[in-house]
Amino acid sequence: MEDKNILIVEDEAEIRELIQFNLEQEGYRVTAVSNGEDALSAVQNMRPDLIVLDLMLPGIDGIQVCRALSAHEIPILMVTAKSDDADIVLGLEMGADDYMTKPFSPRVLTARVRAVLRRRQKQTGAQAEEVPIISHRGIVIDTARHTVTGSGQSIDLSATEFSILEFLARNPGWVFSRGQIIHACKGSDYPVTERSVDVQILAIRKKLGNAGALIETVRGIGYRMAE
Ligand code: CA
Repeated sequence: MEDKNILIVEDEAEIRELIQFNLEQEGYRVTAVSNGEDALSAVQNMRPDLIVLDLMLPGIDGIQVCRALSAHEIPILMVTAKSDDADIVLGLEMGADDYMTKPFSPRVLTARVRAVLRRRQKQTGAQAEEVPIISHRGIVIDTARHTVTGSGQSIDLSATEFSILEFLARNPGWVFSRGQIIHACKGSDYPVTERSVDVQILAIRKKLGNAGALIETVRGIGYRMAE
């Protein structure tokens, strides 16, 4: 059994009950509320381990909830309508961990919940010792020696390209907005802007050759390293 408290914030009763039912089946303890105000007070009372947060809410919307909770560092899985790319990007930059677009399958949702919880656990556990060598599908990044090899060939990256590649490769399968990439990499050789993230990614892909395709563009959102 999963000994975790999950808060669901969703104004549509049918979806709220569906999510609640499925997470309870997995053994999570679930509290469900239908608006942002109740979400903020529930956070004080139940100290959730994760929040499943609908972005389109009456009153205080999901983005405002994200912003209000950013200091709490509670993992957030956003649930959005399909066309809300700009909100997804904003939510990710406000500290949300992942997102799902409606309609979604309950099984995928519970898998995402598990993945977000696992990733958070790994992050808190890993802070003391970051793995110095990342090996992902033929790309080997040695963070101590600052070298990258792809299919055995040494690859020459600039400092910023290196930190972007390292950041993506540490989190395969996760989508990051340009803003998150900038924040994580803080451009060590020159200031990084959203536009220059695109330029850097283009350069990294080119230098990686065939392996460059592993860095995927997620339209409207940002980039991810293929799993
Ligand atoms: Ca809604």
